[in-house]
Amino acid sequence: MDAVNGMVTAAYIAASALFIRSLGGLANPETAREGNFQGMVGMGLAVGATALLLPREALPVLGVVVVAGLAIGSTLAQRVAMTSMPQLVAILHSFVGLAAALVGYASQLGGEVPAGAEGVIHAVALYVGVFVGAVTFTGSVVAWGKLEGKIGSKPLMLPGRHALNAALVLVVLGMLVPYAMNPAAGLAYLVAMTVIGCFIGWHMVMAIGGADMPVVVSMLNSYSGWAAAADGFLLQNDLLIVTGALVGSSGAILSYIMCKAMARSFWSVILGGFGTEEGAAPAAATGPVGDPIATDIETLVNELKEAQSVVIVPGYGMAVAQAQHPVCTLTKKLRARGCEVRFAIHPVAGRLPGHMNVLLAEANLPYDLVLEMDEINDDFPETDVVLVIGANDIVNPGAIDDPSSPIYGMPVLHAWEAARVVVFKRGKGAGYAGVENPLFLRDCTRMLYGDAKKSVDALLAGLGE
Ligand code: NDP
Repeated sequence: MDAVNGMVTAAYIAASALFIRSLGGLANPETAREGNFQGMVGMGLAVGATALLLPREALPVLGVVVVAGLAIGSTLAQRVAMTSMPQLVAILHSFVGLAAALVGYASQLGGEVPAGAEGVIHAVALYVGVFVGAVTFTGSVVAWGKLEGKIGSKPLMLPGRHALNAALVLVVLGMLVPYAMNPAAGLAYLVAMTVIGCFIGWHMVMAIGGADMPVVVSMLNSYSGWAAAADGFLLQNDLLIVTGALVGSSGAILSYIMCKAMARSFWSVILGGFGTEEGAAPAAATGPVGDPIATDIETLVNELKEAQSVVIVPGYGMAVAQAQHPVCTLTKKLRARGCEVRFAIHPVAGRLPGHMNVLLAEANLPYDLVLEMDEINDDFPETDVVLVIGANDIVNPGAIDDPSSPIYGMPVLHAWEAARVVVFKRGKGAGYAGVENPLFLRDCTRMLYGDAKKSVDALLAGLGE
């Protein structure tokens, strides 16, 4: 048995190292595939090593759930549209939350409770794991519903919601004491706490507006990690503690980075209803007046032929239209004519962090043409033509100069500082945040209406060989 334990410990250490390398790899499009692969090998190693510790009669059950999980996971991943990825991530987090809560219940109903101080630690880990798991479960289901459009994206503003949440958290903490004193007789406390946890998760995410959903999804990712780490203490499984802590902290760091990118305070997002008064619906920005000026392919072809420098701002619409391949061909064509072409990527462009980077990498765009917002924002005044392809909120000047705008304070790409801005979109609809975009009425702006892929294909035809 010692030899088996030794092998398992070695496998756990190797799996932890692979998970850490995987996170490092995923931080960059060039190494993301490798990072993904390392994560898969680490997980395979972790499951294999854990199986060594199980009694023989449990192995068929493990085999069945692993095969079922692999089948469901790979089918979902293959079928999901890139634009629905955040929903998938949100619903997967709900599984982690549910699993964490169920592990706690399994331990409560069937596990042996250690005596003394160890028993108290065990009880606290169980209680925390179930609570965070319950919050993550319902919160993630609501986030999925909002992103999928099954639940309205408007924040639900119950009067006194902060006080209600705080009171419920106090009740949960209050019940921990009698539970930890005698966990064996504490099932009723556990059930009551789970119901409250489910309510808090539901209420917390219902109170958050659609535009803040990306931060919420990454925050729930963090919660699911901490719930798994608590289960690691419960099951005395070091790898689960390490993995949970990695997921928990990387999710928290990502949430922080996204909050900075959207000029949100972390706490205001978590507590819900950013930029709205208690009990009030979000304010609409004062809409610009007048009609945007439309342009056509021929005019744009001529402008591009003259241009020395072009910046392309891709957004959610490029993903919807699946225009990334023609956009990359356009880039090659313009570069072949001696024009400098670069891409400006906003941290929350599209519907998930890194969405645009993934699409452009898929179309084999050279990485050195892809610049982050901070790297390129000062270059717009020297840019001849900006092509805004299916982006809207991320180029909204109201975020800078209209304090009444719901997205006021969010850093945006200063596309309007260029000599010419051409916006590719199908109609006059608003972006994800539901806010009018004054960029469309600026003197430098022209609208190229239509599906982005069709428009870029037409441009390519217009530019000729
Ligand atoms: P937006 O959602 O603001 O705008 C997308 C634009 O694309 C729309 O105005 C739409 O206009 C246009 N569009 C849609 N389909 C097509 C098509 N087939 N062809 C051409 N245009 C099309 O996107 P952005 O990328 O600018 O901003 C991202 C927004 O999403 C931000 O508000 C962000 O907070 C939020 N968000 C970001 C997440 C992330 O992690 N990145 C996750 C979840 C939300 P029309 O209908 O007229 O064509």
